[in-house]
Amino acid sequence: METTETNNRVTWLTKEKRPIVIAGPCSAESEEQVMETAHRLKATTKSDIYRAGIWKPRTSPGSFEGVGVVGLPWLKRVKDETGFPVTVEVAKAKHVELCLEFGIDILWIGARTTVNPFAVQEIADALKGVDIPVLVKNPINPDLALWIGGVERLKKAGIKEIGAIHRGFSNLGEKYYRNRPQWQIAIDFMRRMPDVPMICDPSHICGRRDILQEVSQKAMDLDYDGLMIESHIDPDNAWSDAKQQITPEVFGTMITEMKLRHDYEDNRALQSDLDRLRAVIGHIDDEIINLLSNRMNAAREIGQYKKENNMTIYQNKRWNEIIDRAKTQASKSGLSEEFIIRYIKAVHDESIDQQEKVYKE
Ligand code: PEP
Ligand code: MN
Repeated sequence: METTETNNRVTWLTKEKRPIVIAGPCSAESEEQVMETAHRLKATTKSDIYRAGIWKPRTSPGSFEGVGVVGLPWLKRVKDETGFPVTVEVAKAKHVELCLEFGIDILWIGARTTVNPFAVQEIADALKGVDIPVLVKNPINPDLALWIGGVERLKKAGIKEIGAIHRGFSNLGEKYYRNRPQWQIAIDFMRRMPDVPMICDPSHICGRRDILQEVSQKAMDLDYDGLMIESHIDPDNAWSDAKQQITPEVFGTMITEMKLRHDYEDNRALQSDLDRLRAVIGHIDDEIINLLSNRMNAAREIGQYKKENNMTIYQNKRWNEIIDRAKTQASKSGLSEEFIIRYIKAVHDESIDQQEKVYKE
C-alpha cells in the first residue's frame, strides 16, 4: 500500500491510494484462523489493511461475543509477518487503551456504538492526545446528524485522520439487504464532510455473498474512497456473520474484477462535455420546479374550495386515484414504479401542508 508521511508519521487514510481496501474476518476466532486469513489475503495482493473484530457487539446474548484481549497479540503477529496495518473495533475506553498497548494501527467505531453519544464521547476522551486514525461506521438508524456528530466528537478530541464507513441502516421488513444502503445518506455525508474518506462496507449492507460484487461496484461508481470486506478461510463455519463472508481467493477475484472509475475533475475536455449534457438537466429541473409551483397553486385553490364547503383535506378515494394514475403513467414512461410512488407521496404531502395553511388563514 502507498502511504504518505505527514509530521513524520504514516497516514493510512491518505487520498493517494484509491480504493483503499480493508479485509479480514468478521471476528478473530483463533491464532491459526487469523494468521491463515492474513497470509492468504496478502497473497491476493488486493488488500491494504487487515481487520478483525476482537470484541463483538451481538444483537442476542449467547452469540459469539469475541475472543477479547487474547486476540490482540495475534494481530500484532499479522502486522509483523505480513506488513498489513491492522484495525479493530472499539466500543469503550478500555478497548482503546488495550489497542494502543498492543500497537493496533487504526481503530473503528461500530454501528451500535455510533448511535450512542455517551459511548462515542468516552472513546474520544480516551483518545485525547493520541495520534491514531479512527473510522466511524454509520449508526444503525438512518440519522446523518448522529453520524456526523460522532466524527465531530473525534475531531474535537484532536484526532486528525478520520474516515467514515457506510454499512447500511437497519430497516424492519427489508429483505434484499441485511442493512438497507440508503446511498443518499452517505452521499449527503460526503457533501457535508468532503475531507473525510468514505469507505463502503458491502458485507454488512448485503448480509449475503451473492450481491457483494454489485454493491461494491456501486460504491466505486459513486466515488467512494475504499471498501471494507469480511473474509474468512472457511466462511460457512465462521463464528459470526457466516452468510456474508468470502474466502480470501474469492475476495481477490472480486476486487480484480471491479471496474475503477475516476471523477476526472481536472480533465477539461471531459468536464466541458459533461457540462453541456448537464445543462439539459439544469433546464429540465427548472421546468419541473415551475410546474410544481403551478401544481401547489392549484392545490391551494382546491384547499380554499374544500374549506368553504367544510370538506376534509385528505380524501382516501382521491388519493388512490392519484396513485393509480401515477403508476400507469410511470410504466408508460419507463420509470420505476417505486420511484414514482416516492415522488408522488412527497408531492402529496406538500399539497396537504399547503392546504392546511389555507385552512388556517
Ligand atoms: C463488524 O464490522 O463486524 C460489525 C460488527 O459491524 P457493524 O458495526 O457495522 O454492525
Ligand atoms: Mn461482521
